[in-house]
Amino acid sequence: MKKDLILFGPPGAGKGTQGALLADHFGMLRLSTGDVLRDAVRRGTTMGSEAQRYMNAGELVPDEVILGIVRDYLNGEAVNAGVICDGFPRTLPQARKLNHLLGELNRPLFGVIVLRVDDEMLIKRLSGRRSCGACGAVYNVYFEPPRAENVCDSCSGPLTLRPDDEAATVRRRLEVYNEQTAPLVEYYEGASVPIHHVNGDQAVDAVQRDLITLIEK
Ligand code: AMP
Repeated sequence: MKKDLILFGPPGAGKGTQGALLADHFGMLRLSTGDVLRDAVRRGTTMGSEAQRYMNAGELVPDEVILGIVRDYLNGEAVNAGVICDGFPRTLPQARKLNHLLGELNRPLFGVIVLRVDDEMLIKRLSGRRSCGACGAVYNVYFEPPRAENVCDSCSGPLTLRPDDEAATVRRRLEVYNEQTAPLVEYYEGASVPIHHVNGDQAVDAVQRDLITLIEK
């Protein structure tokens, strides 16, 4: 399926989970700028150390860094399959640049899918998230708690909170979303790109079903 789409929504809406499932289902590629940045932080690259301080403060990484990531990706082999943009674009200059890059490659956007979840749920999803440093399993202390506190059920590894999931940082990430990213919906409306709203406040498989139905239409 060669449909490029933007998975849009606040942090904690489920973009990462749903994007990965959709990529798998349709044989598409998922470009998560957050994952690329976290990987750079782990590997200790120059980009990673520049990005880390913004990420830990819940702020956006500068547009030039993000645009470099996206340009490299779209110029690579990835262009042969549909791309699901997860966590990108987040600012108006990023959206304009994406339009330009896709236009050059002659790839019209299938649309923007907005995952809607209310703030109280978002805060629980993010601040409750714990991941295993050893095997990568993910839990949530409110919805999917591990059997023993802070210990992974699968491998007994230690569970940790992502630095940007600390309560104060979560609040800042939501503010940044409302201030800088949410207004992009208007930009896409103005550009006549189809916008689809999906209720992200359901079980993972119910959201997935809604998304698949929408994309197959
Ligand atoms: P995410 O995993 O998408 O929530 O991203 C985690 C963090 O990475 C964000 O809070 C930002 O600091 C940074 N980040 C990811 N994608 C972008 C982007 N498109 N523009 C700016 N910063 C980003």
